[in-house]
Amino acid sequence: RVVVVGSANLDLVVTAPQLPRPGETVLGEDFRTVPGGKGANQAVAAARAGAACDFVGAVGDDAFGVQLRDSLAGSGVGVRGLRTVPGPSGVALIAVDRSAENFIVVAPGANGAVTDLGAEDRATIAGAEVLLLQLEVPLSTVVQAADWARAEGTTVVLNAAPAATLPVELLDLVDVLVVNEHEAATVAGAASADPAVLLDALLALVPRVVLTLGARGAAYADRRGLRLEIPAPRIEAVDTTAAGDAFTGALAVSWAERGGAISEETVAASLRWACAAGAACAQRPGASTALPERAAIDALHDA
Ligand code: ADP
Repeated sequence: RVVVVGSANLDLVVTAPQLPRPGETVLGEDFRTVPGGKGANQAVAAARAGAACDFVGAVGDDAFGVQLRDSLAGSGVGVRGLRTVPGPSGVALIAVDRSAENFIVVAPGANGAVTDLGAEDRATIAGAEVLLLQLEVPLSTVVQAADWARAEGTTVVLNAAPAATLPVELLDLVDVLVVNEHEAATVAGAASADPAVLLDALLALVPRVVLTLGARGAAYADRRGLRLEIPAPRIEAVDTTAAGDAFTGALAVSWAERGGAISEETVAASLRWACAAGAACAQRPGASTALPERAAIDALHDA
């Protein structure tokens, strides 16, 4: 079982011939709403990858909240820990032009109200092998969830997205940090084009690090001295949006299926499978709609 404590947003996506400048109005083309938020995306990624998955978070008491709840439940994610709170749901206003350039404004809404974790949430965390966290809900909540997971023997996986520097009280509770190169540089406080340098800097902060490298795959390092580089499957990338969420969700599933243990013998296999999930997501257009089912992950993994 995987539990995600994190964000749910509705993405309001409009396409337009060009993006407006400040004060300008442009006539758009298509409009659609797509469930998003890193927390919800990773929960859906985990459920599609084949795990039982619970989501702890909040939506507003508006129509978007109903849509987000239905979408999570429809993907097979457990929503007993999903609160409905007064006020608006989290939304992302996204405009995309014909060259795929975009601008995005996120209004966190109800995600800011995920501050009241209680005994039921602790029990949900205790019943999971892996707790998956991101940084789109209040930091105090992320720390609380990680603290309970540590006390209950649940493995803590933190995807440090969006990029931020992290307080020691959180770093000390993390079993595995999952970051892309940009997030790695922010967390480490120093950029480098060399993955090995980033991994070394991050190992000073947490015991295990997974660094995603886009089309180049992923790298892993831990304090016991194990270092791995896993190439991504070669694919025709159509849209890499949410590839990181697909990767992280699948990685959590692979570890949950091994009882939350991250062993030297199996970590390479878990990473290879997660890379297949990221690549399978990148083969399809869209964000959460492109998160792959287990069969699609396995097919690319075995190809
Ligand atoms: P993020 O979207 O968070 O920046 P990445 O771009 O590193 O994350 O992608 C996450 C994972 O998805 C990569 O580690 C890789 O396994 C897979 N992936 C992403 N883009 C591609 C691609 N063009 N070809 C193959 N795999 C990809």
